[in-house]
Amino acid sequence: MAPTLKSMFEQTVAKYPEKEGLVDLRLGTRWTYREWDIEVNRLANALKASGVGKGDRVSTVLFNTAEFATSLFACMKIGAIFNPINFRLMSKELSFILKDADPKVVLFEKATSSQVQPLVQSMPHIEFWSIDEQNMEYALSYYEQIEGVSIDRPSCHLEEDDPYAIMYTSGTTGLPKGVVHSHRDMVDQALLMTAALRLTDKDRGLTVAPIFHCAELHCTFFPRVMVGAANVFMHHFDPAEVIETVKEEEVTSFFAAPTMWNMMLQEDFSKEDFRTLRQGLYGGAPMAPALTTRLHEALGVQLIQAYGMTEMGPAITALMEDEQQSKAGSAGRPLINFDVRVVKTNERGPSEPEEVCKPGEPGEIIVRGPSMMQAYYNRPEATEEALYKGWYHTGDIGSFDDDGYLWVSDRVKDMIISGGENIYSREVEDVLFDHPAVMDAAVIGEPDELWGERVVAFIVKKDDHLDEKQLDEFCTSENRLARYKRPRRYEFVSELPRNASGKLQKFKLREKSAAILE
Ligand code: ATP
Ligand code: MG
Repeated sequence: MAPTLKSMFEQTVAKYPEKEGLVDLRLGTRWTYREWDIEVNRLANALKASGVGKGDRVSTVLFNTAEFATSLFACMKIGAIFNPINFRLMSKELSFILKDADPKVVLFEKATSSQVQPLVQSMPHIEFWSIDEQNMEYALSYYEQIEGVSIDRPSCHLEEDDPYAIMYTSGTTGLPKGVVHSHRDMVDQALLMTAALRLTDKDRGLTVAPIFHCAELHCTFFPRVMVGAANVFMHHFDPAEVIETVKEEEVTSFFAAPTMWNMMLQEDFSKEDFRTLRQGLYGGAPMAPALTTRLHEALGVQLIQAYGMTEMGPAITALMEDEQQSKAGSAGRPLINFDVRVVKTNERGPSEPEEVCKPGEPGEIIVRGPSMMQAYYNRPEATEEALYKGWYHTGDIGSFDDDGYLWVSDRVKDMIISGGENIYSREVEDVLFDHPAVMDAAVIGEPDELWGERVVAFIVKKDDHLDEKQLDEFCTSENRLARYKRPRRYEFVSELPRNASGKLQKFKLREKSAAILE
């Protein structure tokens, strides 16, 4: 029988029953794989008793919690489709996803109750289970629901092509889209990452990036479960606490978004604090080469970068530790079995091989490979467009170099066209990041009567004395940037708008810039 995520979990439980499987720092729980499996069975039976059957959806609006890790596998044990939702979404956004995914049960917690509560009345067909509070008027208690329930393994037949989850995209470029992934997609992605990260049962991984996002869930969590490694869950990100936990829990590997690494770098720590760490991962958004260098110097560990998207499982390329210096800024090479190409058109013209760009020539990145999504949930037209001719069209612009390394320059939607020249916002951001007094930077285009668009930079200062003049001189000196690419206007802000997975919400910056121009 072909493997599924369910059989993968059950095999790990059988092989490593007494190994530490899950540590939840919030509850202070430490479960072996056997104990974790018991909780999974209990919840699976409770969900079944509530009428959840094969193909039904169960959504979570949870931070990194043991209940998340339990509900994930509980769904598989009864063939339900897991739907993890971003815990930062506001009620309106949450309502959009719940209407789309139409779950039978939603698990939430105290920290997300203010977003969930306003929706409960208008969705009487959904059961809302709170993992925190007992006797809530508007919700059921998770712990009351599982009390006294059988811990026998429920019987359920799964095929590898059965859907395992609906994962919503980050909604960076529009409304989030539900991505349907099968068990097979994720077994493939987990195998790939296990090999790429050389994970073993000796590893101790930290989950600190939001686990509802596929970067954490699929690139590091499943691979760790697959090999029987320990999983330490930190409820939410706190830079000082991460450093403390790495030391205390002897963490060997963890993933964080570039902005989280940047925040850790502002803390006081020594290389000794990261003694046990053998690898750090980043991805989901570009990281400026200046930041990777600073992190290497501070941690004593070279990072690994993954590039990808929810639709692809997510990882499609990786830049390994030993390539970070020689190929700083590149997203690395395609992972095993992924066919990644850069094609000339970003319209939906034919994407045949003859249209492939030459090395160094930018175009749209397209890809096909093992963990490609089945479809967008409820969106046949968007699916057809995104999977045109069997290739997923990423909407990202990039190029390959002569050595076969991919360089991601921008999203098609973020590229700035000024005086007929293409300007990739990332190139300008990387230069700004190089300035020692810059803590964070984002670049967008704003309308310009003469040039069509002009470059505007939003800067978070590390040093109060930094001003526009210094930055302009920095950008134009030492051939850092061609003059037409340099920002024409700077705005100093206290922070940049980012979503829970650390992605810059450039649409918010565009709104801000439009308001200023009015
Ligand atoms: P939406 O599709 O809803 O607009 P999103 O594209 O941000 O949201 P995700 O699937 O979470 O949703 O993110 C994938 C995108 O993130 C990629 O298409 C790419 O633009 C960006 N990205 C991911 N990893 C990297 C990386 N290592 N370097 C540069 N950009 C990256
Ligand atoms: Mg996307």
